[in-house]
Amino acid sequence: MPEERTTAPAVPVSPGTFRLLGVPVRLHFTFVLLLIFLMVYGLGSSLSASTYVVYVFALLASVLVHEFAHAFVSARYGIRTLEIVMFPIGGISRMERRAKPGQEFWIALAGPLVNVAIGAGIFWYLFSARRIVNVYALNEPTDANLLERIALGNLILAAFNLLPAFPMDGGRMLRAILTRFRTEDEATRIAAVAGRLLAMSMGLYGLLSMHFMLVFVAFFVYLGAAQEGAAAMGRSLTHGVPVRAAMVTEFRTLGPGNTIRDAANMLLATSQQDFPVAHGGQIVGLLGRTALLRAMATDGPDSYVAGVMDRSYATVEPDADLAEVLPLMTQAGSCALVMEGDRLLGLLTSENLSEFLLLRRFGMEPSEVRAPELAG
Ligand code: ZN
Repeated sequence: MPEERTTAPAVPVSPGTFRLLGVPVRLHFTFVLLLIFLMVYGLGSSLSASTYVVYVFALLASVLVHEFAHAFVSARYGIRTLEIVMFPIGGISRMERRAKPGQEFWIALAGPLVNVAIGAGIFWYLFSARRIVNVYALNEPTDANLLERIALGNLILAAFNLLPAFPMDGGRMLRAILTRFRTEDEATRIAAVAGRLLAMSMGLYGLLSMHFMLVFVAFFVYLGAAQEGAAAMGRSLTHGVPVRAAMVTEFRTLGPGNTIRDAANMLLATSQQDFPVAHGGQIVGLLGRTALLRAMATDGPDSYVAGVMDRSYATVEPDADLAEVLPLMTQAGSCALVMEGDRLLGLLTSENLSEFLLLRRFGMEPSEVRAPELAG
């Protein structure tokens, strides 16, 4: 199984990342923009500052609980959540691998279900406390109807996420249902097209009705749908193609005793960005461009490769399905070593992979795409 040899790339720890129940939660920079927007928006309202802060944080907590519901159900299927990224339209969980359609349906449903439960729970409490529930609370925010607004916010969150379009949870559920009648890639494309149509109509409506928050949301829905569509296209172009057809076979290696200066010279002399480090015929590490430059700045050009190379690099098998290893290569600058046992056959890099995909789109078959072996 390719998964067994495939090690997930380490998640870089950046400012704005914290761990919750063992899962890294990252705040996307656009999310910080949203917080600023909400704070400025809140200043203009007649609410007391404390109520407004409680309201904003209660909704953020609701989004986090929603994401942890996804993580909880996927963990029950044995799928680890690598990280949760908080975007303005909600969180996005990055999974270690893709779930089977049947599992994905339940993983997706768990999130909105939790928000329905929170909303219903609060309303149940309000009714049982014999309080009059004002359903127009969101239009007339007051300090007194804080609970109603949190409950309504959760129900809106659930409804929005259940829209049958990518990148919403409803889009994932739609895809899971469609895979009963169509191939997985077709199902993904349908859900992605639905997402783009939804985003465009939402954006247009927002512009015409001057609801600019809606335009903002539409923009992110469009990005998410386009991303899922591109990922589906990538999968269908690589499905059934072995890793060895797309790997880089012309590459140089370093030794652990080489200096950072040697590595920098090689970086200049070649178009290579990642250098496998070999010692006595064995691969002992990988030195990427970022680590090389960082070492140059902090340790100086005379430090050794052995001290800065990455010992936990990703490896893939040459006959693994390229579509299976795509999730490893989503970040720019990703590199995985193609290993047959202990033997290094080639490099799989995100740059080379995107060129491979481009050529495949123009109808070239893997054998034609394969670069002719050059002498030397
Ligand atoms: Zn969700």
